[in-house]
Amino acid sequence: MNIIFYNTLTKTKEEFKPLEGNTVRIYTCGPTVYKDASIGNMKSYIFMDNLRRVLKYNGYDLKHAMNITDVGHLVSDGDEGEDKMLKAAREEKKSPLEIAAYYTTKFFEDLDRLNIDRPEIICKATDHIEDMMNFVQKLLDNGYAYETSTAIYFDVSKLDKYGILSGIDLRNQRAGARVEVDKEKRNPYDFALWIKAPENHIMKWESKWGLCYPGWHIECSAMSNKYLGEEFDIHTGGIDLIPTHHENEIAQSKGCTGKIPARFWMHCEFLLIDGGKMSKSLGNTYLVQDLIDKGYDPLAYRMLCFTSHYRNKLNFTWDALTSAQNSLIKLKEGYSKHKEGEARVEENVLAEYKQKFLEAINDDLNMPVAMSVVWEIIKNPTKSKQLADLLLDFDKVLGIKIDEPLKQKQEELPEEILELIEKRKKARQEKNWALSDELRDKIIENGYAVKDSKDGMTVEKI
Ligand code: AMP
Ligand code: ZN
Repeated sequence: MNIIFYNTLTKTKEEFKPLEGNTVRIYTCGPTVYKDASIGNMKSYIFMDNLRRVLKYNGYDLKHAMNITDVGHLVSDGDEGEDKMLKAAREEKKSPLEIAAYYTTKFFEDLDRLNIDRPEIICKATDHIEDMMNFVQKLLDNGYAYETSTAIYFDVSKLDKYGILSGIDLRNQRAGARVEVDKEKRNPYDFALWIKAPENHIMKWESKWGLCYPGWHIECSAMSNKYLGEEFDIHTGGIDLIPTHHENEIAQSKGCTGKIPARFWMHCEFLLIDGGKMSKSLGNTYLVQDLIDKGYDPLAYRMLCFTSHYRNKLNFTWDALTSAQNSLIKLKEGYSKHKEGEARVEENVLAEYKQKFLEAINDDLNMPVAMSVVWEIIKNPTKSKQLADLLLDFDKVLGIKIDEPLKQKQEELPEEILELIEKRKKARQEKNWALSDELRDKIIENGYAVKDSKDGMTVEKI
């Protein structure tokens, strides 16, 4: 069956076929490891994983590279500002490499918790300094770069078309150009490839241009070229990377090889929190650990991501996560019921479900539609092990561990609350409703919420 992906480069949905043989070569912009990755970042990596799983489900092999930005890059989108890694190192009183190692480990822990498969190639920027230097030299040789007293810059005016990904038109931008820091820059949009390090800069490398450190974009061009070649199949990242980072990656690769490095550019829309931006100052930057601490299975977040298309914004609320977790529980229960079922279903019924599921995932990873097929199977009154097997097969794409129990951290309740719960359970068994209500009020007075359902009572901190 054909696979259709939306390509940011052409702004259309196109049929996908690997450039060479059966192997799909993918590059993903990985994390900057000077801070914890938020659940917003994780939306982009769940999308990346979803893409991998869909391609594999269609029988393709993968050669997928993801970088780890452990050199830090500058605070603002341009080349100004303090290096993020150094800022974190100073605040946490650790060396930049210690900071990077710590957050890299935490990042992979979160990937595991969300059942995100790791790309085949994980490449750290600090291990590829020489590759980056060679790339910069090539750009100088090809006439796309120039040296100033502070850096080696990419000259955007040398490209026939700068801005093909974001549609930015430099002719309209130049007049109202943003603040220029370096007076030696030829054009306001020229960006730094290689920066001459000030004396107090910690992370710097010896090079023919003196002690330097890389600009933000060069690592991805150098590493994608090294591991995947001059032209590969798909490049992914979050939507914020389009106008600067990916535009500049394309510029660098075109300057070096004359080619746009990837045929498909796929971008994941942002996660919003309570309808707005996630920000440290608003205190609403949540981590996977926060979800666990509040008693959620991290895979409930995966389910939440499947409620909207990856190219749509997704609004995170705790209520939405609770619904997603309830759905996850129902899916697991539905799977178990089918697994125990002894009825037989017709082969054509199974084939029809599979066809609908494939059509959805191959239509630009349409997970909301794919999930509706899953629900149809769950709700099928004929309980059959064949349907359970089909769900397990679909779980190769979903990655929600449908056949495993929910991983939920039970909150440790204080002794006096546990006692009240036990007494209330007994009162309810004895149908002593007055006492049950009295005990419920006592639990609430102690700062805990009580929820009664057909499965019993749950108590959690308010
Ligand atoms: P960073 O570690 O900041 O370089 O970001 C890692 C990835 O997460 C990039 O692909 C970003 O585009 C993506 N990203 C950052 N914030 C969000 C968000 N709120 N929603 C979805 N993706 C995000
Ligand atoms: Zn990148």
